[in-house]
Amino acid sequence: SSTESGVHLAVVASLGVGHMKPLVVFSNRIVSLRSDIHVTFFFHDTDTDTDTDDIISPSSPPHHDTKIRLVKLPPIDQSTILTDSVGTRMSITNIRSLPSLRASLLASRPSALVVDFFATDAFDVARELDIPKYVYFTSNLWALALMLHSPQLDQDIQGAYVAQSEPIRVPGFRSIRAVDLPDPMPDREGEGYRWYIHTCNRLKEADGILVNTFEGLDDSCSDLLSTAPPVFLVGPLIRSASELSPNRRDECLTWLDSQPAESVLFVSFGSGGTLSREQTTELALGLEMSGKRFLWVCRPPTTGNSAGAYFGVLESDDPLKFLPEGFMEHTRRVGLVVPNWVPQVEILGHTAVGGFLSHCGWNSTLESMIAGKPMIAWPLYAEQRMNAVLLSEGIGMAVHALKGNEGRVVKRAEIAELVNVVFEGEEGKVMREKAKEMSGRAVVAVGEGGTSYKSLLQVFEQWKIGSLNYDKILR
Ligand code: UDP
Repeated sequence: SSTESGVHLAVVASLGVGHMKPLVVFSNRIVSLRSDIHVTFFFHDTDTDTDTDDIISPSSPPHHDTKIRLVKLPPIDQSTILTDSVGTRMSITNIRSLPSLRASLLASRPSALVVDFFATDAFDVARELDIPKYVYFTSNLWALALMLHSPQLDQDIQGAYVAQSEPIRVPGFRSIRAVDLPDPMPDREGEGYRWYIHTCNRLKEADGILVNTFEGLDDSCSDLLSTAPPVFLVGPLIRSASELSPNRRDECLTWLDSQPAESVLFVSFGSGGTLSREQTTELALGLEMSGKRFLWVCRPPTTGNSAGAYFGVLESDDPLKFLPEGFMEHTRRVGLVVPNWVPQVEILGHTAVGGFLSHCGWNSTLESMIAGKPMIAWPLYAEQRMNAVLLSEGIGMAVHALKGNEGRVVKRAEIAELVNVVFEGEEGKVMREKAKEMSGRAVVAVGEGGTSYKSLLQVFEQWKIGSLNYDKILR
């Protein structure tokens, strides 16, 4: 317990790679920073074919094993959760897990709680235990500001957000165009929206919010809301490539070894992104038309759901069989198509990779930034449309693939042109330089003495003081 060994932090992840992996990285980071902290890490069983071992125990220094205790929450029958909304599924799964989480927390008596933002209902248990409660926010400050402001928008704005003539204002931050609103907001009548507002309200109860971003990532997004809980910018915390076990070097890395420096476009839509059949065809032919080298993580197409693989891929469907006739043959010398899953951090860090066509999930965004690789922003779901705006208009390290294209298929010639923007000409050069500059700044921020490094230690001190008081109360 907290009495023997300083701070005992309980960390609660949500279902889904993008809401588990970052919390693992955060846990690893905090225990490597301070010796007087240990973590109990609660997570859900995922259905994805992702290598969970890789996510849960990246071969971090051995002493971490004793400092992070992993607790897998009992499986929740996903077939009984009837929703198309990724966020709703995460929230409901977390709520159904609460009884076992509660039992475990009451038994182990941590000194502070840190949860993913879809797991804020666990705050009730923190209240019961009278311990401080924090959120680890797996996206950027702009997205956080919108969430904190959304209950107010819900009161102020009548009718559909997408029907507003002006962009949605977020005080202190850039406004959001209707087409860029995050997933639950366009459908205000939907169940997903009600859960979204619930989540937004609960965020405000936090004693602090740790955000996986860093000071100055985007200058137009730096004012914190005065009504917000204290916010700590502690990132970018991403898994470093070296943490992957060395005996598992993937074949695509070997393929990259034989490609020229900065010549390959890496194409991936995160852990769950899928395209329509028609869009898959156009993407294939666009890549071919560009004549550039590429490494494409390909999934079977879906109809109507761009997060089609988020909670597991359709094993039965071989994605390669949906590719246009002759495509594999024509691109044999320049392209590699890999079904479903690759070691992304390692790939982005490879010198042969010169750009990233990405769905702009926040983790992918940070990974590209750290690697200093310019992007083609192709947002699909969640808050990815905001991330794409941030990358293209705010930071300037990406070209936006869908601007003016919203809702329609991006044609092969447009795709070839986007690839050329990144690899040829002035615009691509500027984006590349910007990406490298961001990489440098990110490394400084998390490095010893950097702003994010200091912020994390500052939160730690709060936990430490809290745990001392807590011990007194217990005695
Ligand atoms: N990822 C990976 N290999 C893949 C696809 C994804 O390692 O083939 C990792 C990626 O590096 C990132 C995470 O999964 O850390 C995806 O998180 P992100 O926030 O980018 O998107 P999400 O999948 O949550 O939409």
